[in-house]
Amino acid sequence: MIQLDVLQPESCNDCGLCCEGNGSPVVLYTSRPHETGPHPFRPSGLPQHLIDDIDANFLGLYRGQEPQDRCLWFDPTMRTCRHYEWRPMVCHEFELGGTACIETRRPFLAPENQ
Ligand code: SF4
Ligand code: SF4
Repeated sequence: MIQLDVLQPESCNDCGLCCEGNGSPVVLYTSRPHETGPHPFRPSGLPQHLIDDIDANFLGLYRGQEPQDRCLWFDPTMRTCRHYEWRPMVCHEFELGGTACIETRRPFLAPENQ
């Protein structure tokens, strides 16, 4: 379990806590073989090898049906997103230092810093 030095972050470095325990937002990018028209969530230009990897893990699943332990794109060693530039909208909207961020971090604050 990681321990944080400060509650209020200046960056996401060495945190990554919001990428764990909430499923895998990139499941939204899974191919929809029975639907026509543009994909509703996938950004244009998303590299094919990333699409193939997502499909290999999630094809046929909807958000919430995927494994919940950590996001497919989360690197637990570096504690970063492996494809940050392609992260889904929900990840863009998770505000650094916002209420959800702080409450996610609070249980991991080192005892000597509380
Ligand atoms: S947004 Fe907050 S909880 Fe998520 S990785 Fe960054 S600092 Fe951690
Ligand atoms: S796409 Fe990246 S930023 Fe979003 S939850 Fe997954 S690892 Fe975290």
